[in-house]
Amino acid sequence: MSSEWYKTGDEGYKQVQKIQEERQKEYGPRRFFLKPNTSAKVTFLDSNGFYFHEHELQIDGKWGHYFTCRRDFDECPLCDAGISVSYGCAYTVIDHSEYQTKSGGSIKNQKKLLVIKPTVVNKLARKRENEQLKGNLTGAVFLFTRDKKEECRTGEDLEFIKKLSQKDLIKFKPKDSKESDADWIKPFDYLALFAPKSVEELRKISGQAPPVGSDDYQGAVAGVTGGSQEYSEDNIEDLL
Ligand SMILES: [Zn+2]
Repeated sequence: MSSEWYKTGDEGYKQVQKIQEERQKEYGPRRFFLKPNTSAKVTFLDSNGFYFHEHELQIDGKWGHYFTCRRDFDECPLCDAGISVSYGCAYTVIDHSEYQTKSGGSIKNQKKLLVIKPTVVNKLARKRENEQLKGNLTGAVFLFTRDKKEECRTGEDLEFIKKLSQKDLIKFKPKDSKESDADWIKPFDYLALFAPKSVEELRKISGQAPPVGSDDYQGAVAGVTGGSQEYSEDNIEDLL
């Protein structure tokens, strides 16, 4: 065997970067979530909003697996399997919270996906029409608060703090980031991120569930369930 089982210094650091890039390619960017009774400041990097239907599945006991619903244009095996669907609106934000990593370090100012539910969409629509924003959310800093577990995971209370310039936004770019300033403040490519999977793939994901009501239905979907609020907080911890 030619390769060592460990790396040190720069070589190890490069390996970490590579693993993170691969993770991002496979799972997409992290989503912004709040634990109950917490708040966090986020800054918007775009303003339009990308609206779509999606399913959230629990796979191997863990929530946080998202699949775009195909029902608006075609058949959707996840809808057919009775898995609940929600309408969401995606934005790209900088999450200013500080998180402790397992290795004892800390990370903040992470670029994340913010996917809000219709109740929050309505609140945001009212807040963005203030004197400073005039309808444009780019650079807007909001404090999101989640008062209780029953609220959606982004929190449902939001307060406008201030508007930042493009120059200010670039200051949040992590020092070790390889991205250009322009890329760092660029919103995610939603069309690529949320591109619906094929009917065949979704059938596989839903356990190739036979039609609802048939004898095999329950068995086929065991291990994969959908929902919006019935998750364990422990599972969310892994996503942060
Ligand atoms: Zn669907």
